[in-house]
Amino acid sequence: MIQTPYYLIDRAKLARNMEIIDRLRTQSGAKALLALKCFATWPVFDQMREHMDGTTSSSLYELRLGREKFGRETHAYSVGWSDHEIAEAVGYADKIIFNSIGQLERFDNQSAQIERGLRLNPRFSTSGFDLADPARPFSRLGEWDQARIETVMDRISGFMIHYNCENADFDLFDRQLARIEEEFGGLLKRLKWVSLGGGIHFTGEGYPVDRLATRLRGFADRFGVQVYLEPGEAAITNAASLEVSVIDILNNGKDLAIVDSSVEAHMLDLLIYRQSAKMEVTGDHPYMICGKSCLAGDIFGEFSFPAPLSVGDRLSIADAAGYTMVKKNWFNGVKMPSIVVKELDGSLSVKREFGYEDYASSLG
Ligand SMILES: *Cc1c(COP(=O)(O)O)cnc(C)c1O
Repeated sequence: MIQTPYYLIDRAKLARNMEIIDRLRTQSGAKALLALKCFATWPVFDQMREHMDGTTSSSLYELRLGREKFGRETHAYSVGWSDHEIAEAVGYADKIIFNSIGQLERFDNQSAQIERGLRLNPRFSTSGFDLADPARPFSRLGEWDQARIETVMDRISGFMIHYNCENADFDLFDRQLARIEEEFGGLLKRLKWVSLGGGIHFTGEGYPVDRLATRLRGFADRFGVQVYLEPGEAAITNAASLEVSVIDILNNGKDLAIVDSSVEAHMLDLLIYRQSAKMEVTGDHPYMICGKSCLAGDIFGEFSFPAPLSVGDRLSIADAAGYTMVKKNWFNGVKMPSIVVKELDGSLSVKREFGYEDYASSLG
């Protein structure tokens, strides 16, 4: 048995998402780029590459990883490039998307040999979290002033517009895209490509994929553009779990089980957005599942189990692919989970284990 903790990526579950992406690409004509900031565990890129057109990035290192480990079409986006990064970035990228007119002008000469785009901020979004809302007041994410954008239209061939956040509501998507068509249609007609970013939850249960495909094809035809989507979460949703073991049981008014992992170190997104972990269990024995870091609030959540828990029991925490492995860290020096892939034949392959040397070398 593989020692816990480990992230377990299930290729069969990944295949389900990839099938939907394929259907959407075929029916809509849109291209799909994996957003590496959400998921960058490259041992399964061999599988994803068959169903996605390439990658998009948020930094030089993500960009390089996309070029070297995924291949195909490589989009370079970053909120800001430094002077010493731009030449290398242009070397990896098929397209570079600038966040601001200032960056586009600063790196005009260095980027002129590849296709360029600009991030458009439509000043509305579907995010319910201020922290993750690109349209929040004073947002630095993209340009919105059409008169200013007009001055650089001769230098760009596309826009990137990322304004959805886990949006499972097709009608809302439809209405907001109509607003973009209405407000920015004059500019869109002059472009070759438009990326609508990520955040569309089209691999979710019951999502009307056919309606989305028709809507995207209509948009592409109306403006004469190649549409791109940049799915992060939608590409890998439900495709991985975090496998942990119970190492202690306490009762301090509630039954508590401590596991050999930590929310803060291994599922940080849950703390940031104040959400509970997910576990597919039911029963009459409730426990609070707690992490082993010394942070008082290092708690995965409360779950009811079919039988009392004991030390050594293994638990599987669901939905551990997106914004999870990319954020793992060495807080408290807690052993970092290994990365394990469940192959299509059911066998498990350990892709990476982390040890003391990795911890020490990350600090000096
Ligand atoms: C975060 C992000 C994505 C991916 O978003 P998901 O919600 O994971 O689909 C795509 N494009 C851009 C520009 C992003 O910032």
